[in-house]
Amino acid sequence: MKPLQVSLERLLREEIRLAGHLTAEALELETRDELIRVAGPLTYALRVSRVSDDLVVEGSLALDLDCTCVRCLRAMTYRVSLPTWRCVVPLTGPEQAVREGDLVDLTPYVRDDIVLAFPLHPLCEPGCPGVLYSEPNGGHASGAGGWSNSPSVWSKLDELKLD
Ligand SMILES: [Zn+2]
Repeated sequence: MKPLQVSLERLLREEIRLAGHLTAEALELETRDELIRVAGPLTYALRVSRVSDDLVVEGSLALDLDCTCVRCLRAMTYRVSLPTWRCVVPLTGPEQAVREGDLVDLTPYVRDDIVLAFPLHPLCEPGCPGVLYSEPNGGHASGAGGWSNSPSVWSKLDELKLD
């Protein structure tokens, strides 16, 4: 039985509480965005109850991401937190949950909503000025380094074109 599977028969008698950690693998979480990687396990604390033909899932979800700031390219941790997550899982109709016998797996519902909460453009801070204003070489952003290298790069490109 998976950590987020619940028994429908048991839910007829009582609500089910689920709490623990789930790895990114168990969550089947893949990010195609190279600026975002899943850092830690998902932390969840959920209460599942059956209301007529629906399951109502309420609780909290939290997941740490290793992100790269899109402006300054600094590494940072971004916490996706859904402290009052709520999800209704229908047991009948066209959207009904997939069942394995008596069991319904809540994993896809958790996964879909946590992915929706990922940052589209991760920023280390709201007003990040970006890479041009940072000090990559100990405070000497201009002068001998930096842009003066550019002409030689372009002349090398020109040489390549002539070949
Ligand atoms: Zn930044």
